[in-house]
Amino acid sequence: MAVHVRLLVAGNSVQRQRFARRSGGWQHIRFPATVALIEHPEHGSTLFDTGYAPRFREATDPLPQRLYRWLVPVEFADAESAVEQLEAFGVPADEVLTVVLSHLHGDHISGLRDFPDARIVWSSATDLAGATPGQPGSLRAALRHTRHGFLPALLPSDLFARLRAMESLPPVATGLPGFGTGHDLFGDGSVVLVPLPGHAPGHLGLWLPATQGPPLFLVGDACWLRQAFLDGDLPPTWVMGTLGGRDAYVRTVERLAGLAAARPDVLIVPSHCAESVAGAADALARG
Ligand SMILES: [Zn+2]
Repeated sequence: MAVHVRLLVAGNSVQRQRFARRSGGWQHIRFPATVALIEHPEHGSTLFDTGYAPRFREATDPLPQRLYRWLVPVEFADAESAVEQLEAFGVPADEVLTVVLSHLHGDHISGLRDFPDARIVWSSATDLAGATPGQPGSLRAALRHTRHGFLPALLPSDLFARLRAMESLPPVATGLPGFGTGHDLFGDGSVVLVPLPGHAPGHLGLWLPATQGPPLFLVGDACWLRQAFLDGDLPPTWVMGTLGGRDAYVRTVERLAGLAAARPDVLIVPSHCAESVAGAADALARG
C-alpha cells in the first residue's frame, strides 16, 4: 500500500556547523525542524514529529528552561507551525489521527498539543516519571530535563491516555539491510517504526517503503547531517558525549552508511539536514 508524503519545515534552529560535523567550520547553519505529513488511503493523516510552535517560546521563557533557547537559538514565525501549514493544505488538525514521535526533544514535540484528537505513538523505552504533563517539577528535575532538551510543558495533559507504545504494534521485517525488524503502524507494511538508538532515549525512525516518489527512511536525529553516514563526518566526540548514548549513536550511523551503500534507491532523510530534506521534498513533489 503506497502512502502520499509531504515534508514541511516548522521553524529552524541555528547552530554552528562545527558542532554537527568534525570537519565543519564555525559558521552558523540552519537546522530545519522537519515534519512529515503521511496520508494513507484508509487510515487518514499521520504526522511524524511536530516541529516548532508558538508555545515553544512560552515553554522556554522561565529559567532554567530559557537556557535551551540560549544554547539552541530558534528562527520561527507562527505561520510556520505544522498546524497552520496543514490548514493551508486543506488538512484540518482534527483529521490528523496519529502522531508518531521520533523522540521528545523540544524541536520535535512543540506542535503536539495542536493535534488533540490524534493518538500518539512512541517508544515505551523511556521512563517518563517526573515528566507528567501539567505537574510542576522541582528545580532539579527542570534542570535535568532542560539539559536533555526536554520541556514537559509541551506535552498534552492527556498524554498517557493517548499514548500507544511502538512495542505494542505488530513486528514486521523492514527488508532494509542492517535494520531487521520494525513495528507495523497500520498492519499493512506501509508505515514501519524502526528503533534508531543513540541520539536520545527511545529514539526511532519511520520507514515508508512505498510513497508517491522514492522509498523514504525518515531517520529523525539518528544523525544531524547526511555527511555523517556518507563520509563518516560525525559530530565532535564531546558533542556526542552529550547525547543519549555515544556508542549506540555511532553504531546506528554505521548501519545507515551500510544501508546507503546497499540501497541507493532509498532516500535517507535526517530531520535537520537541510540538503536531504530539500532533495526529498523535490523528489516527492515530482512523484
Ligand atoms: Zn533531538
